[in-house]
Amino acid sequence: MPRRITHFQQDQLDRVARFADADGDRLQLRVADTAERNCRDVPTEVFFPATDEYSDQQARLTERLRIQQQCRGCPVADECLAGALLRGERFGGWGGVAQPDFQAIGRLFRTRHKRRQEEAA
Ligand code: SF4
Repeated sequence: MPRRITHFQQDQLDRVARFADADGDRLQLRVADTAERNCRDVPTEVFFPATDEYSDQQARLTERLRIQQQCRGCPVADECLAGALLRGERFGGWGGVAQPDFQAIGRLFRTRHKRRQEEAA
């Protein structure tokens, strides 16, 4: 039986719904070109921690809070998350969503995106 989607996961999918037909690479270019993004002077490694969706609950919670703090108020957070999902990224924290959460949301997104494409074909 498939696991139920959490409110948090649904909220993240709702955030990116308006980008469903966008190009993930173009979104990433928009993010990179935004001088006001929170991570402009932050090393990329900050967003690729050892903690993943298989880490223990405390580690996942700590990572969630860390990335939320890093990305809070970033003006391109939705584009950042949508682009990563559309490109099929498997790792990293994106759009304020920590890697462990992003990995689970990515699977949900890919399943729904594929279904949507099949229905449109
Ligand atoms: S949401 Fe976070 S990772 Fe994405 S551009 Fe903003 S600060 Fe960087």
